[in-house]
Amino acid sequence: MRHEEIKVIKEKCVGCGLCLGACPFSAINLIDKIAVIDLAKCNLCGACKDACSFEAIIIFKPHLIVKDLSSYKNVWVFIELEHNEIAGVSFELLGKARELAKNLGGKVVAIFLGNNIKSKAKRLIYKGADEVILVDKKEFKNFISENYANALTFLIQKYKPEVFLAGATTVGRSLVSRIAVKINTGLTADCIGLDIDKENRLLIQTRPAFGGNIMAQIITPNARPQMATVRHKVMKEFGEDRKRKGEIIEESLNKNFIDERINFIDFIKDISFKINLAEADIIVSGGRGLGEAKNFEIIKELAEVLGAAIGASRAAVDSDWIPYSHQVGQTGRTVAPKIYIACGISGQIQHLVGMQSSKIIVAVNKDPDAPIFKVANFGIVGDLFKVVPQLTKRFKEVLGK
Ligand code: FAD
Repeated sequence: MRHEEIKVIKEKCVGCGLCLGACPFSAINLIDKIAVIDLAKCNLCGACKDACSFEAIIIFKPHLIVKDLSSYKNVWVFIELEHNEIAGVSFELLGKARELAKNLGGKVVAIFLGNNIKSKAKRLIYKGADEVILVDKKEFKNFISENYANALTFLIQKYKPEVFLAGATTVGRSLVSRIAVKINTGLTADCIGLDIDKENRLLIQTRPAFGGNIMAQIITPNARPQMATVRHKVMKEFGEDRKRKGEIIEESLNKNFIDERINFIDFIKDISFKINLAEADIIVSGGRGLGEAKNFEIIKELAEVLGAAIGASRAAVDSDWIPYSHQVGQTGRTVAPKIYIACGISGQIQHLVGMQSSKIIVAVNKDPDAPIFKVANFGIVGDLFKVVPQLTKRFKEVLGK
């Protein structure tokens, strides 16, 4: 529910249209020379109010009700399972949570839902958790966002964590947004940095904004928990310490959290996705320079020889040459392989934010001024249709394949 309101004072509006140009959401129309705001599109950013020279737009914001947040403690990490194995991003988050919890003077709590998972809980302690809240029930065997969100909402209300982190994965994104709405707190998606403002006990959440051109720092001062999803491969794991001790709290969750409208039928694996992009040591990526879908074959051939995963720019994905699951970048996956080979990719900022932490970047592009060469350790200026098959041939020889 929105508590703010925006209004145009008809008597003051002269129909100059300045607000139309200022609105980033095309939410304003002139009707009978009066600005009319479409509330379904408006997000109350205030750009129209600032642009109006006649003070004809007003935004009402209610006084904030300041809640007592002092009972919220500890940093929670949602532990994600991928085919019944703990996802790498969860270990990375446990590593980061240790640092955050230290600054807040609290504990790291792993929140772990699934079926037949008890034997894996100890590993979470070795990897940085002080406590594990374990829900081991057959109802949670398969990830169903609604059921998980119902259970987690209950647990959050019971234990009151100060910070709640999840991976910015398909699972994390669909789950945490539901919870944030249910408990009426803020959520910052796709973070690439987290820090603590000790004085105010605030989680400083850093994420790219405006197409990756700026890094925004976002805080949640008036609600708890402070929720964030974090990209894979941007935080460091805590090294495994088998001497670490911690508590495993089993929650039986007697209440029914199951949404009867939803049934798990089957998991259909994307068969084009042989090697998991996020886990790959080597990635060969193709972009618009490939010209058409069938030319991805030369990328596949090189990837096959190197045992690499296949990545793509958004231009290639948007052209339907390859499924979205291969997209690297701001609206795709963040990757940090040992070697990233970009073929026919110009290197726009939205692509770079997803791959620039790769150890070695190799770029093949016919344009010597392509921005990708600014981040590349090795650049090959040339036609990819000549260069890539030559690379494949040479690697085959060297690797004896
Ligand atoms: P282009 O920019 O068209 O580059 C093609 C390159 O191929 C050129 O440099 C050209 O010199 C080279 N080339 C052409 N022919 C050959 C040849 N024969 N041999 C060698 N080189 C050749 N993009 C992403 O990739 N990932 C994202 O997640 C992403 N998110 C976005 C989010 C937002 C909000 C926005 C606005 C954009 C996003 N984009 C993203 C799009 C991004 O801005 C670029 O448009 C996109 O990355 C361009 O893809 P490209 O490099 O393949 O294509």
